[in-house]
Amino acid sequence: MDTIIEKVNPCQPDEKIMEQAGKRIAAGELVAFPTETVYGLGGDALRPEAAAKIYAAKGRPSDNPLIVHIADFSDMERVAREVPAQAKKLADAFWPGPLTMIVWKSDEVPSATTGGMDTVAVRMPNHPVALELIRKSGCLIAAPSANTSGRPSPTEAKHVAEDLSGRIAMILDGGPVGIGIESTIIDLTEKKPMVLRPGYITPKMLSDVLGQEVVMDPGIIAADDTTKPKAPGMKYKHYAPKADMVIVDGEETAVIAKINELTKQRRTEGKKVAVIATEETRKHYHADVVLCIGKRSDEDAIAQHLYQILRECDDLDVGEIYSESFQTPRIGQAIMNRLLKAAGHTVIQV
Ligand code: AMP
Ligand code: MG
Repeated sequence: MDTIIEKVNPCQPDEKIMEQAGKRIAAGELVAFPTETVYGLGGDALRPEAAAKIYAAKGRPSDNPLIVHIADFSDMERVAREVPAQAKKLADAFWPGPLTMIVWKSDEVPSATTGGMDTVAVRMPNHPVALELIRKSGCLIAAPSANTSGRPSPTEAKHVAEDLSGRIAMILDGGPVGIGIESTIIDLTEKKPMVLRPGYITPKMLSDVLGQEVVMDPGIIAADDTTKPKAPGMKYKHYAPKADMVIVDGEETAVIAKINELTKQRRTEGKKVAVIATEETRKHYHADVVLCIGKRSDEDAIAQHLYQILRECDDLDVGEIYSESFQTPRIGQAIMNRLLKAAGHTVIQV
């Protein structure tokens, strides 16, 4: 299959292109598109064959449910068995935006889309191209991240093309995304609202709006696999670069010294080493490649560059990656969740 790649203005996408893209979704084909979090791989959410195509194109296990993207809150009533009061409150505060809500599913949503689960994940993305694609297609759009399963999520159209060219009908290239990590997932079917995946919207922001306690899924805090995460996707080894990756955590000068010491050792073994550093620290490292993720004080930039940097490590064919740790105040939990997974939870404390 030839994959058509169309550049679109991310603020005001071309009407004709969006109509074409919408028609493809309505015809049961797959179209990748930008959202504010990462690029998504879209198909008609209410058609089981479209879900099957998505799983096949990504090489994703079919027990890993897809998020249903909507452009209008009233569509929540279509996909949910009933809409909890909390969903309305959260939508008023955060939609369109990087928040996915889990609710009990209606009969209209095929179990292929929800990976066999009785619940459905729903999100209204905050991106003109994504919203216009949903409207033009006349469908609700099931969309996981538009990467091959196990690779870092795509934050630019070229990442999508690297992974999925020849496997999907179309890619809408709206330039680099704004946030760079996937949506926060909150499960509203639990007794207490539970965060299944940390993201840009923090538990504190959620509990402030809900006026009740929001808990974290114990399975995503656990450093080992004795406690399984509730979101099926969180149990897979995700975001993994090809090389082994180690996070070094501690006070800045000690971290730099440790990473340089480890780099020296690996290089005597003939390994090519990459270091993930910040604007402030990059000049202190002696590795083959030093990748700068952004200013330490700018946590939005760190989130935005994370996946692109993990992909670069693959392209540079390095044998070992050392990364500083990024326990930033607001979205540090979300950033570290991805980084720890990429590193298979290997952390050296100094
Ligand atoms: P992605 O679309 O690649 O960002 O992945 C979607 C994430 O949402 C995966 O981790 C899924 O396991 C999770 N997810 C989707 N639907 C549900 C659901 N009904 N219950 C729990 N987790 C879900
Ligand atoms: Mg994904």
